Amino acid sequence: MNAIGPSSIAQAVSCVDGYDPDALRVDKAAEAIRACLSPIVESERVPVRDALGRVLAQDIVPAINVPGHDNSAMDGFAIRSSDVKSQESHLKQIGTALAGKPFAGAVGAGECVRIMTGAVMPKGADAVVVQEVCRAQGDRVAIPPGQKAGQNVRAAGEDLKAGVPVLEPGRALGAADIGLIASLGLGELRVKRRLRVAFFSTGDELASIGAPLQEGQVYDSNRYTLHGMLARLGVEIQDLGVVRDDPEALEAAFRKAAAGADAIITTGGVSVGEADFVKQLMAKLGEVLFWKIAMRPGRPMAFGRIGNAFLFGLPGNPVAVMVTFYQFVREALLHLSGRTGPGVPKLSALSAQTIRKVAGRTKYQRGIVFDDGGVWKVRTNGQQGSGVLRSMSEANCFIVLEHDRGYVQPGEPVQVQLFEGLT
Ligand code: AMP
Ligand code: MG
Repeated sequence: MNAIGPSSIAQAVSCVDGYDPDALRVDKAAEAIRACLSPIVESERVPVRDALGRVLAQDIVPAINVPGHDNSAMDGFAIRSSDVKSQESHLKQIGTALAGKPFAGAVGAGECVRIMTGAVMPKGADAVVVQEVCRAQGDRVAIPPGQKAGQNVRAAGEDLKAGVPVLEPGRALGAADIGLIASLGLGELRVKRRLRVAFFSTGDELASIGAPLQEGQVYDSNRYTLHGMLARLGVEIQDLGVVRDDPEALEAAFRKAAAGADAIITTGGVSVGEADFVKQLMAKLGEVLFWKIAMRPGRPMAFGRIGNAFLFGLPGNPVAVMVTFYQFVREALLHLSGRTGPGVPKLSALSAQTIRKVAGRTKYQRGIVFDDGGVWKVRTNGQQGSGVLRSMSEANCFIVLEHDRGYVQPGEPVQVQLFEGLT
């Protein structure tokens, strides 16, 4: 399992420069989490098709060249470029080369071969002239001047070269990678095992879908949002349902989750009013730190470890769940999964409006990026309360207003994180 012992969470995070659990900057929180995580090591062999979205656990080193031979990139005539003079040349067609049906002989001086795209270049020929510029009559072919050696020829190994590594461990495999691996003739490959993530919602006010709503209750939406966000990461998901704000029920849920999962995500129960008994419970079960993060939404958050599982205790408010997931949990889970590569990119857009902001915390507004006559601009969308999930549904980006930033004036550049590919 993971290499860090249960008592090392506090040690690891306290080494982060500027660590302050009561006013933790988002960059410091991300750094603190990162300092505790080590990627899973177990891997498995899967058929190439099943590797889509999985994390590569081996080097892919081609055993063959792709393509395997020099071949034609066009339909036309394979010639010897030295035969072509400054005026029109007349060559004799001595055969045909098709994809998968090579021409057996060799092209001698004054000769050419009719060739199709993908056909192996015949011996002796070093260029292909596209058929549109040639005139063929019987076995005589007129070739215009100005043909160069190597033109319209794909060199053996120009895509992949035997012995030269092409994909490294840690890569999340996309459709092109799957095709590339198939082009090497590999039927199976080694990928990291899937990360196992368990989650549950906490709250006495939560009703499950299908049950009638009693007075004061809300339907539990967080588990559905979480399910969606986790499904996008390709992890194995264990949904443990709704758990009451009751120490015994919570303890049972945490024990069950920790038994099989690499990571546990909970929502609710970490705010000031609720955290006390959860804290006591956590101290009993594992090592969990409660943080007040200098961000909005998403201020309270817990991070730690129960048994072999890392715990992410997210706030209860539906928007805060999504913000904390995307700013901390997503990257942590990808890292645990063994994935390398950059996090969610931040792009720049011009604010179309004034945005209220006080220095001293990072603010994540929900926004809409739009094209204003060739310039990317962004505006906030509607109500921004941390309980207004509609603001996430309607938005197409986060507007990230940095810790030290104050009011934003119209026309000022701001950072945005696009939802496309994320949600
Ligand atoms: P808490 O952090 O538990 O105090 O919850 C903060 C707010 O989020 C409260 O208004 C809760 O009713 C709401 N909330 C908590 N959990 C959920 C959930 N699973 N689905 C929808 N709303 C929730
Ligand atoms: Mg609650």
